[in-house]
Amino acid sequence: MAVDPSLHCHECRYCRSGRGNLCDNWAAIGVTVPGGAAEFAVAPVANCVKLPEHIDVTDAALIEPLSCAVRGYDVLKSNLGSEVLIYGSGTMGLMMLELAKRTGAASVEVLDVNAQRLETAKLLGCTGAAARAEEFDRPGGWDVVIDATGNAGAIQDGLGRVAKGGTFLQFGVADYATTAVIEPYRIYNQEITITGSMAVLHSYERAAALFASGVLDPAVFISDRLPLEQYPQAIDQFKAGVGRKIVVQP
Ligand SMILES: [Zn+2]
Repeated sequence: MAVDPSLHCHECRYCRSGRGNLCDNWAAIGVTVPGGAAEFAVAPVANCVKLPEHIDVTDAALIEPLSCAVRGYDVLKSNLGSEVLIYGSGTMGLMMLELAKRTGAASVEVLDVNAQRLETAKLLGCTGAAARAEEFDRPGGWDVVIDATGNAGAIQDGLGRVAKGGTFLQFGVADYATTAVIEPYRIYNQEITITGSMAVLHSYERAAALFASGVLDPAVFISDRLPLEQYPQAIDQFKAGVGRKIVVQP
């Protein structure tokens, strides 16, 4: 079983219009109520997705972040043959890379200042990997630019890399106080779209189906598996930016 952690109130204006991820009373298992960092957890039946027998449930923790990436792609409505640029090759950037490949991108280029992380993007078959966008010869920009860093510098750089008629997706979670400069004339004159995607919306069950079909290789995405007793060490390792997804096994 895999569990969609979203707890929408079903009463507010956003829930009633089918946009529960924007719920005025947004809550989630593991965020606002006790979650999976325990031997047992409670979840509404409606949040549970039965997994096929061949799925190892200890890998299935990847379905939740994948469901956020699926939501991101829903927002993008990406066309076949798009040129895609992704900032960040952490797990979320890598998941966007996997979805870009499967939604018919003509090319997917990945940026990261961490050379070790870029190696994983190369392993997963990105078209190009670099520390700076200047290293790619694409003066016209990219149809789709995705920030998967939340970093102010990356976001600012990315906003200027969107091709005419293209879309910038704010997918990474920036600090509340982060700001960036936009160019209103260019947004008008070149019909640039700047949008965001927030968590999970009607995307969890599809992410589970994609996961069951092998869209992600758990051996690549999960770098460490720690027992529940070592939860503090897992948090420390995550904060230090070492490895990719760290699975805590109750
Ligand atoms: Zn609501």
